[in-house]
Amino acid sequence: MPGGVNSPVRAFKSVQSDPLFISHAKGSRLYDEDGNSFIDYIGSWGPMILGHADPRITSEIEKAVQKGTSFGAPTEGEIELTEMICDAVPSVEMVRLVNSGTEAAMGALRVARGYTGRDKIVKFEGCYHGSVDALLVKAGSGATTLGIPDSPGVPRSFTEHTLSAPFNDLDAVIELTGDYPDEIAAIVLEPVAGNMGMIPPEHGFLQGLRELCDREGILLVFDEVMTGFRVNFSGAQSLFQIMPDLSIFGKVIGGGLPVGAYGGRQEIMLQVAPAGPVYQAGTLSGNPIAVAAGKAMLRILKEEDPYADLGRKTARLNEALSEAAKKKGIPIQICSMGGMFGFFFSENKVRNYEDALNCNRDHFITFFREALSRGIYLAPSPFESLFLSTSHTEEDLDQTAETFRQGLAAI
Ligand SMILES: *Cc1c(COP(=O)(O)O)cnc(C)c1O
Repeated sequence: MPGGVNSPVRAFKSVQSDPLFISHAKGSRLYDEDGNSFIDYIGSWGPMILGHADPRITSEIEKAVQKGTSFGAPTEGEIELTEMICDAVPSVEMVRLVNSGTEAAMGALRVARGYTGRDKIVKFEGCYHGSVDALLVKAGSGATTLGIPDSPGVPRSFTEHTLSAPFNDLDAVIELTGDYPDEIAAIVLEPVAGNMGMIPPEHGFLQGLRELCDREGILLVFDEVMTGFRVNFSGAQSLFQIMPDLSIFGKVIGGGLPVGAYGGRQEIMLQVAPAGPVYQAGTLSGNPIAVAAGKAMLRILKEEDPYADLGRKTARLNEALSEAAKKKGIPIQICSMGGMFGFFFSENKVRNYEDALNCNRDHFITFFREALSRGIYLAPSPFESLFLSTSHTEEDLDQTAETFRQGLAAI
C-alpha cells in the first residue's frame, strides 16, 4: 500500500512516526496490534459519534447481513433513511444516497452545474470536499499535511472552473462574482471548517453568502460531511440558521459503514437521473447493510439528542488545554461545537487557511507524541479536527485533561 495506508491522513508522516495498526475498538477505546489501548479522539474521522461497536448499531448490521448483502434494486430501508435525513435537515427535500463524502460532493456539484447551466464553482482555501479532481485546489488537511495542495494527475483544465477565496472573506467572494458574472454555478463550503483545523464562520459570513447567492442566481452548497449530525442533529445549517440550496453528507450518516448523500431543494434534485438529465449512479449506492447502520445511528441520535452533553465534554477538554497553555505561557486558540473540537498553537485568532498554516507545528508534534505515549490518540496533524463520542466517560476526560497538561509541559 502506498505509504503503508489506504488513505493519506492515516499515516503519521507529519508527526514523524509510524501509524498504529488497529486490531479492534470498543466505546471510546482503540486497541492496536501490539496490545496497547488508547482513548480515541479520531472516531474514524467523524462517524463514531456513539463510540465504537455500539451494540445497537452492530446488531442492526448483523440482522441486515442475514437478509443478503446487496441487491442492486431499491429497498424499503433507503426510503426510511432518506426520510430521516429530510426530517432532520429542513433544507433537504430530496436525497440521493451514495458511498462516500467524495462521491456526494461530486454529485452535488454536477447537479448544481446542470441546474444552473453554469460551469464555475467557488470553494474556500483549506476546505476539503473529498478527493474530487476539480476540488483538489487548496484542499486542506491531507493535502496540506503532505505539502501537495494541488495534486499531480489533475489536469489544469479540470480545475480551470474552480475559483478559490479565503474562508471568512465575504468581500473576496463578492469580487469573484463581479469578475465572473452569470458564470458561477455554486459556492461550496464547510459551514464550520474542519479540514484545516477547526475554524468557525465569523458573524455574518454565511448570511452574506446566502444573500449573495440569492442576488446572483448561484446555488449555496454546504458540505456537512463532517458537521452533519455532529455539531447538532440538523447540522451547522440549523446552528447558524442558514438554508443552503444543496447539502452534502457522509461520515455520521453511515454509522461507520460507507455512506454518503447529497440533497436539497426538490426542484434542483429533480434534475438528477432518472428523474432528470444529470447522470449519477452507483452499483452499491444505498447498500442495505450500510443503510441499516445509518438508520440505527440517526434513530439513536434523534432519540437521545446527545449534542448538549457532547458540547459540554468538548468544552471541558478545551478549557483544560487553555488553562494549561496559559500556565505554561504557550499561546493557543481553541474551538468546540457539539462533538467536534480543535486547537491551534497560535498567538492570533485563526480565521482562515493562511492563519492556520502559521500555527506552530513543532509544538503540535511534541504535544501529539506526548499524548500518544500516554494513551491518547489524537489526529496526527495540526490541520484536523478532533471528535468525541457519547461513550467518552468522565474518567476518560479526566485522563485526557491530565495528559493535555503533561503534553503542554513537554513543549
Ligand atoms: C471527510 C470529508 C469529505 C470526504 O468524505 P469521504 O467519505 O472521505 O469521501 C468531504 N467533505 C468533508 C467536509 C469531509 O470532512
